[in-house]
Order: sequence, then structure tokens, then C-alpha cells
Amino acid sequence: MERCPNCRARIKEQPQQCRRCSMELDTLWELKEKVMTLDKKAAKAILEGKMKQAKQLLKQRIKLINSAFIQELLLFVSTQADKENLNDAKLIQLNANQWESFQNLLGRSSSNPLRIGDTENQA
Ligand SMILES: [Zn+2]
Repeated sequence: MERCPNCRARIKEQPQQCRRCSMELDTLWELKEKVMTLDKKAAKAILEGKMKQAKQLLKQRIKLINSAFIQELLLFVSTQADKENLNDAKLIQLNANQWESFQNLLGRSSSNPLRIGDTENQA
């Protein structure tokens, strides 16, 4: 559920203005779009073990919208950045909550080709 950054009113669709306070919301949607794109790219980079790339993407992302989870993810990625050949096993070092958030992040792309987990057995 989105909320107006000004008055915290709930926003259901993507109106140009907030119904309660009339704040212009175009910028908000643009920002969200950018953030989602960066998240998707970063998630892909992480899954491919490209930690330096992921780090750069997450740094850009955190400048747009900061969140505790992205901070943790950035920290994780930073510590892994010089071990470029990351395998999936190392990703499990994320704790359960982080893992869930990470999955949510990936899930935001509707047709998500990057299913984590039992991909190996599907062949
Ligand atoms: Zn508002």
C-alpha cells in the first residue's frame, strides 16, 4: 500500500495528485520506477555473483530511497565484493528475514526469471 509522502494518505492507483493534500505525485511514481529498475538489476547482479556491480547499483538505489533492508544488503554485497565468484551457498548467509526481503525484492518483477531455490532440479 502506497502512501502520500506529504500527508500519508493511502494511494490506491497512480493518481497525478494526492486526493487529500493535492501534492503532485508524478515524481513519486518516477522515483519508484527508477528504484524498481535498480532493485531488479541489483538482484540479478547478486544472483550472478557480480558483487561489485550490485554494490554500485545499490549505492545508486539508496540515494533515491533508503531502507534498512537495502542498507543491510549493501553491507552484505560490499563484504562480498572482492570475492567475485560468489556461489548460491554464500547467499544463504543472509538471515531468514533478509532472505525473505530479498525474495520480495526479486518478486516485484512480475515475470521473474530468477527463481531461487530448486532451480537445479527442474532440468
Ligand atoms: Zn497527500
